[in-house]
Amino acid sequence: MNVNQQPHMASPYGQPQPGYQGYPQSGYGGQQVPGGYPAQFAPYNGPASAYQPGPPQGVRGPPTSGAPPVSAAQAYSQFGQGEVQNGPPAMGPPPQRSPVSQPYSQGAMNLTGPQPQYNQQFGAPPTSMQQMTTQMAGMQVGSTVPSPAGPGYAPPTISQAPVSAAYTPSDPSSYAPTPTVPSQPPPAERVPQSTPSQPYYGAPAQQPFPTAAPPFSAPGPAQAPAPPLASQQSFPQGPPPSQPPFSSAPPQAPPTASYGGPLPPVQAPHPRAPPPTSQPSAFPGGPPPTSTPSQYPGPPMPQQSPVSQPSPFHSGPPPLPTTAGGFPPQGGAPPRPLHPGMQGPPLASQGPLMSQANHVAPPQPGMLPGQPTAGMAGPPPPQQPGMQGYPPQQNGAFGQVRGPQPGYAGQYPGQQNYGAAPPAQAPAPSAPKRLDPDSIPSPIQVIEDDKANKGSEPFVTGVRGQAPPLVTTNFQVKDQGNASPRFIRCTSYNMPCTSDMAKQSQVPLAAVIKPLATLPPDEIPPYIVDHGEGGPIRCNRCKAYMCPYMQFIEGGRRFQCGFCSCVTEVPPHYFQHLDHTGKRVDCCDRPELSMGSYEFMATVDYCKNNKIPQPPAFIFLIDVSYNAVKNGMVRMVCQELKTLLDYLPRENPDVQSNIRVGFVTYNKVLHFYNVKASLAQPQMMVVSDVADMFVPLLDGFLVNVSESRVVIESLLDQIPDMFADTRETETVFGPVIQAGLEALKAADCAGKLFVFHSSLPIAEAPGKLKNREDKKLVGTDKEKSLFQPQISFYANLAKECVTQGCCVDLFLFPNQYVDVATLGVVPTSTGGSVYKYTYFQAQSDQERFLNDLRKDVQKPMGFDAVMRVRTSTGIRATDFFGSFYMSNTTDVELAGLDCDKTVTVEFRHDDKLSEETGALMQCAVLYTSCTGQRRLRIHNMAVNCCAQLADLYRNCETDTIINYFAKYAYRSILNNPTKNVRDSLVNQCAQILACYRKNCASPSSAGQLILPECMKLLPVYLNCVLKSDVLHPGADVSLDDRAYLRQLVSAMDVTESHVFFYPRLLPVHKLDVESDALPVAIRDSEERLSKGGVYLLETGLNLFLWVGANAQQELLQNIFGTPAFSQIDPSMTSLPVLENPYSKRLREIIESFRMQRSRYMKLMVVKQEDKLELIFKHFLVEDKNNSGGASYVDFLCHMHKEIRQLLS
Ligand SMILES: [Zn+2]
Repeated sequence: MNVNQQPHMASPYGQPQPGYQGYPQSGYGGQQVPGGYPAQFAPYNGPASAYQPGPPQGVRGPPTSGAPPVSAAQAYSQFGQGEVQNGPPAMGPPPQRSPVSQPYSQGAMNLTGPQPQYNQQFGAPPTSMQQMTTQMAGMQVGSTVPSPAGPGYAPPTISQAPVSAAYTPSDPSSYAPTPTVPSQPPPAERVPQSTPSQPYYGAPAQQPFPTAAPPFSAPGPAQAPAPPLASQQSFPQGPPPSQPPFSSAPPQAPPTASYGGPLPPVQAPHPRAPPPTSQPSAFPGGPPPTSTPSQYPGPPMPQQSPVSQPSPFHSGPPPLPTTAGGFPPQGGAPPRPLHPGMQGPPLASQGPLMSQANHVAPPQPGMLPGQPTAGMAGPPPPQQPGMQGYPPQQNGAFGQVRGPQPGYAGQYPGQQNYGAAPPAQAPAPSAPKRLDPDSIPSPIQVIEDDKANKGSEPFVTGVRGQAPPLVTTNFQVKDQGNASPRFIRCTSYNMPCTSDMAKQSQVPLAAVIKPLATLPPDEIPPYIVDHGEGGPIRCNRCKAYMCPYMQFIEGGRRFQCGFCSCVTEVPPHYFQHLDHTGKRVDCCDRPELSMGSYEFMATVDYCKNNKIPQPPAFIFLIDVSYNAVKNGMVRMVCQELKTLLDYLPRENPDVQSNIRVGFVTYNKVLHFYNVKASLAQPQMMVVSDVADMFVPLLDGFLVNVSESRVVIESLLDQIPDMFADTRETETVFGPVIQAGLEALKAADCAGKLFVFHSSLPIAEAPGKLKNREDKKLVGTDKEKSLFQPQISFYANLAKECVTQGCCVDLFLFPNQYVDVATLGVVPTSTGGSVYKYTYFQAQSDQERFLNDLRKDVQKPMGFDAVMRVRTSTGIRATDFFGSFYMSNTTDVELAGLDCDKTVTVEFRHDDKLSEETGALMQCAVLYTSCTGQRRLRIHNMAVNCCAQLADLYRNCETDTIINYFAKYAYRSILNNPTKNVRDSLVNQCAQILACYRKNCASPSSAGQLILPECMKLLPVYLNCVLKSDVLHPGADVSLDDRAYLRQLVSAMDVTESHVFFYPRLLPVHKLDVESDALPVAIRDSEERLSKGGVYLLETGLNLFLWVGANAQQELLQNIFGTPAFSQIDPSMTSLPVLENPYSKRLREIIESFRMQRSRYMKLMVVKQEDKLELIFKHFLVEDKNNSGGASYVDFLCHMHKEIRQLLS
C-alpha cells in the first residue's frame, strides 16, 4: 500500500514563509565594512587567560539537590505569549521586551526586523556607458621585487542556599515540550523482525499511515508579526538616575514553589513520569498534562491505527531497574575511541556487551544455527516467532513481510560490493521475505507529523532543553533567552550528566552553529548593545559575555557567572537594582539579560593592533586563458560585474557601499589594472614573474566603485575583447591568491577574493599542480590521498590569508580534472566557498552561475572573524567542523563568515553535569561588519542534563545528529580508508540504538527492532550518508566531484544537509492551483512514482522534474505547452512561461525552492525511460543504487542485525 502518496490535505511543506526567501536575493542592504588590520588579535578575549576548563574556583557550590535559586523559578513561567509590559516585572507579568523600550544602540544595524530591501535588478547595464575605444596602455612590469539557561534558567546556584523546590529542571515533565512526546516512557518504534511466519501482522490492514492525514490546514506561522519596533530607539545607558543606588531588596526565595521538589531518585519502571501537574500554568512551555500512561509509546498521532493491540511492552520504560545500568560503567575506558574514531577496531573497550561491536567480520554469536555469518543474504532469522505479534504502529510497523529481499549481497560493511547488485551468488532460492517499506519508519510521515504538531505555534526559546521543530517545518521563533534554532541546533537537548552515560549511549553531543544566519522577515535580527567605552561586560575569569545566565547578587553589585561561577563586580555604569525575585529591574529592556542572541559593539581593544579597521575590499581575479574565454565565462563575468558592483554589501541601502574593489586577470601571468578615477582609461600592468608575487601598483588598484565607475566599466568592457584570441591554455593559481592577499595587505584591510578559474594550474609557479587523478585508488586504502591536497603550499597560503582576513571564494569552470581537493584548501580554510560548473556552457549554465555569483557578492557577511564557544563547567567544546582555520584548540578563525556558513561543535564531558543547572554554551563571534564596525555576536544556549538514558533518547534531534555524522565522516576520510569510516558510522549508530534497546525499551523478542521515537529515522538517514557520493561513489562520480561535495557538506547547516541527504520529492501533478499549500512530499523511492505523474525533486544542489510516460496530456500541455510526451525537450533548463494557473504555480514553486537554498539549482527535465533518468534515480535514496548502496529496507535489516549482535 502506498499510503504515503495519499493526496492528503496539502501541507505547507517547506513552503517559504511569507516573504522569507531563505536568503533574500535582493534586499540585502549589505553592510559596509571597513576592514583591515594587520595581524593578530591580541585583545580579543581580554587579558585574562583564556578558557580554563578546570573546575571553577569555587563560588558555585556543588549542585545541590534543592531547587535553583529564586529567579530561576520565576523567569520562564512568566513568559506569557507575549504581552508586552514595561516597568519592573511584577510577580507574574510577562517580561517580554517592550517594543518601545529598546535600549540598544542605534547602531548601523537595522533594528526593525526585516532587512532593508532595495530593489535589485540585474537588468541591462546602463546604456550610457561610455565606449572606450582606446587601447589600454600596456606596460610590462618586470620581476622587480617591491616592496555563553535562559534567563532564570539554570542560573548558577548562588551562594545563598536555594530554596527548595522552586523548579526542578531535571524533572522530565518540565521540558517535555510537545504533545508529541507523551511524557511517559520514552517512545519507541518497534520493528517486528521480518520473518516469513508472521501471520498476525502481515495483514494488509496494517497501513502504517492511515490515509487521514492530520488536517494541517493553516499551519504556517500565521503568528502575529513581531512587535512593531520603533526603529530608532535610543536608550540611556547606565542605571536610571531615579533609582536609589542600593536597594535593600536582595533576591529572596520565591514564595511559592511550583511543584515537584527535587526529583526523586531513579524510580524503577516509570522514572520519568511527570508529577501530576496540578498547576500546569506554571510552565507555559507546557508540560503535557498527560497523566494517563499511554500504552503507546509513539507519538499520539491524530490518526492512530486502531488495528494495533498495544502491547504492554510498548510503553515500557525500563521495567527492569537492574538492566538500567546494564552496561557496566566503563572503568578506565579510553575516552575517545568510543566515538566514531577511526583508530582501530571501534569500541573494543566497551563493556562485555559491546564486544561484538566490530561488525566487520566476526561471527555472529547471536545468530541461530544455520544462519550464515558472512552474508546478509537473507533477512535475519526469525528468533521467536511467537513473540512478534506486535501489531505495527502506524508509524513504525515494521513487520510486514513481502517479496524477496533484493540482493543485499556481501557482508555489509566489509565489502566493496556492499549491497551491490544482486550477484548471482546465493540468490536466495525461495525468496526470503522482505520488510514492507510501508511498515518501516517513513521520513515523510515524521516530517508531516512535526508540521502538524509544531508548525502552528511559535517556537519560544525560553524553555530550557526544548527541542525545536524539525528543519522541514515552518515555524516562527521567539527569542526568550536561548538562541533560535536558526542559529544553533543541538544533537540532543538533554545532555547526559556523566561521561560514562555519554559513552554508553554513543549519542554525539554537538551543536550546529550558524552565527550570522539570515532570519525571516517576521523575526527580529539580533539587537546591538553598546556597553560603552569599557566594552562588553564579561566574567572576570572565563570571559564569558554578559548574558541571561549571569546571576546578579548582592543587590545587583556583583554577578556570578553561569559558566564558571566566578563572581564579578558590576561596573558602576552598568549597575541596576534587583527586583524581589533577584532579577535586575531592567532585565527585560536589555537583550543581553533576556535574549539568546544579540550583538555587542566591540571597542578598539577588540581590533587588530588596536586600530579601527579599514573598509574591506573585494578583489575579482579572472582567468583569461583559452578555456575560460572560449566557454564564455570571461565575457559573462565582466558583463555581470558592471551591474553587480552596485550591489555590494552595505547596511543602509541609501548609502554607497564603502567596500573597495580591484581587478586582476591572469593565465600564466597576472595583469593588474589601475582603475583610478582620474584616469581616462584603465591601465594594465603585467607581472610575469609569478615566483614572488607582488602588487605592482598601490594607488588605483583598490578603488571606490562610485568614484571610478567609468574607468571600471571601460575595463570590464575591454577585458573580453583583449583576450578573445588568446591561445594561452596554461594557468597559475597560487600566485593569483597571493596577489589578492598582497593587495589586501598593502591596503591594510580584510576582504574577499572572487577567483574565477578554469583549469589545473600546471604553469610553472608556486602552487603548481600535476594531474594525479587516479580512479584506481577508489576503494583502496590509498583512497584517502585523493581527498588530501597534493602539496602543502595551499595550506600555508591559507594560513597567511586567515591572518590577513582574506577570504577566498572560488568559482570553477573545469572541463577536466582540476584537483578540487587541492584548489579548495584556501577557500575552505578561510570561510570561503567553492562553486563548480563542470563543462560550463554559457547558454545552459549562465543562469545558475550568475545567480550564484549575485548571491555570493551580496551576501551579508562578516570579515576577519574569530569565534569561541564557552561552556559551563562539566563540558567543553573539543572538536570543530566547518570552513575555517584554527591555530589553537579553542579559537575558530574565519577570514570571512557569511550568512550560510555553519560551524559544528562537538562537546565532551570533563566533569559531571547537574540536572538542575543544565549545560550552558555561549558562542561569541568577533567580526567586522561591512560598515566597518567591530562587533561581537553572541548566541547563548542552555540544554537540560539528564541522569537517565531514557531522557537522553527522548530529546534528540536526528537531523542534527546526521549533520554531525556526515561532517565527521567526511573529515575522517582524509585520514582513513573510506570503508573504515563507513563501518565506524554503522557501528556507532548500532551502539546508539542497542543502548536504547537495552536500557530504555521494554524487554521483548530480540527479533524486534525497537527504535527510539526521535531517532526512528536514524537508519534511513544514516544510509543516505553512507551511500552518498563521497563515501560510496558510483563509477561515474569524478574525484573532483567527491572532493567538492566533501568540502561543501563540511559547512552546511541542518536544513541543507537534510535535503542534501534525503531529497524532497514532490508529486506536482497533485498540485492544487487554488491553494498556497504544496502537495505532501513522497518518499524517495522509485516504487512511489506513478507513470502518470510528474514529480519535482530537489537536493539543494539539483532540481529535477521527472515526467512519467503516461502523464496526462492536459498536464503536459499545462506544463510544457505540448500534449505529447515525445515532444518534451529534455534539454530545457527552465519551463516555458505559459498562461495557465498550473504553469504559473509550478514555476512559483520552483522559484521558491531556489530561494530557500544558498545555491541556485538548475532545472533538469527527466523523461521516464530517458537516459538522464539514471541521474535522477541516483537521488531516490531509499532504493538500492547502482553503485552498490543498500536500499533502506536492506539497511534496516542490517542495522537490526548489528544491534542484535551488540545485545547478544
Ligand atoms: Zn565565568
